[in-house]
Amino acid sequence: MSQDPLTLAQSLESEAISFLAGPGNYNGHPNGVDRAFGEPIFGYAWAADPLWNSLKVAVDAECLSPLAAFLSLYPQGAQAQDLYVMVLVLPQTVKTIKEQNKTTYWPGEGWARSRAAHDKAVHGLARHLQSFLEAKGIEAVVPDLTPTWRTKPSSAYQITSLWSHRHAGFMAGLGTFGLCDGLITKVGKAHRMTSLVVRNPLPVTPRSYADHDFRRDCLWFNSGSCGLCVKRCPAGAITESGHDKLKCSDFLKASTPYIETHWPDLKGAYACGLCQSHVPCAVRTPKVLAKPQPQSV
Ligand code: SF4
Ligand code: SF4
Repeated sequence: MSQDPLTLAQSLESEAISFLAGPGNYNGHPNGVDRAFGEPIFGYAWAADPLWNSLKVAVDAECLSPLAAFLSLYPQGAQAQDLYVMVLVLPQTVKTIKEQNKTTYWPGEGWARSRAAHDKAVHGLARHLQSFLEAKGIEAVVPDLTPTWRTKPSSAYQITSLWSHRHAGFMAGLGTFGLCDGLITKVGKAHRMTSLVVRNPLPVTPRSYADHDFRRDCLWFNSGSCGLCVKRCPAGAITESGHDKLKCSDFLKASTPYIETHWPDLKGAYACGLCQSHVPCAVRTPKVLAKPQPQSV
């Protein structure tokens, strides 16, 4: 017997907030109190929404649908109409953003620490919610923590993964994509994300944008302006053509010596995130400019 969708969503959200208030969300700063991530926002999508099929066309034919992700852990059977996707956006903290706004090449300490704490905080939260649901007799899958999940080369996007939390966020009404590939939400794009496929109804979040309008909130696309993420990127990995994931990845790898020198406890860590800070879409959806301006970078 399924649980009431609204009640279940409320209890999942309280559970997430209380997890993030605990030690699972510490970022390892020597002061012992700094958090990796701030207050989350949530969105919900239905697995039988036909728009999921368009991801296979737009992103990669091998992209997992919510049903395929669910079946990878529960192969005994399920139907898409019985599954729902919960998506969580975990914003960087105000302290981290303020510090990161001042950086011009390598990341600030808070950003490096939240990146290093990703598996503990973000995967930890997803696993926690999965166990919380299972204790209620509700099956749930975290798609990027299943044996099926992997990254793969992509002719359109250089590298892609079989499940994208950002695309799940678009499906769940949380936001649209910026020039730099980040998902611009009401709390901006300076965040990390996770998502779960759940076999129980959840209250589907209406999308305020059209199915094809996946760039609605980026000023580059809606006003012909901004382009500040292009200027912020120290690796030249963002251009008018979008985000060069290989250049970005090389720069991330190159950040490790800097991070280890400044914060020796972050052994092997890597981070950047300059394109997600000190830009109009960092912590909110930017307002469309009244007078669109052509932009060159
Ligand atoms: S910084 Fe400007 S151009 Fe880049 S994603 Fe944000 S709004 Fe778009
Ligand atoms: S994370 Fe850093 S290297 Fe990658 S696109 Fe953003 S600014 Fe450029």
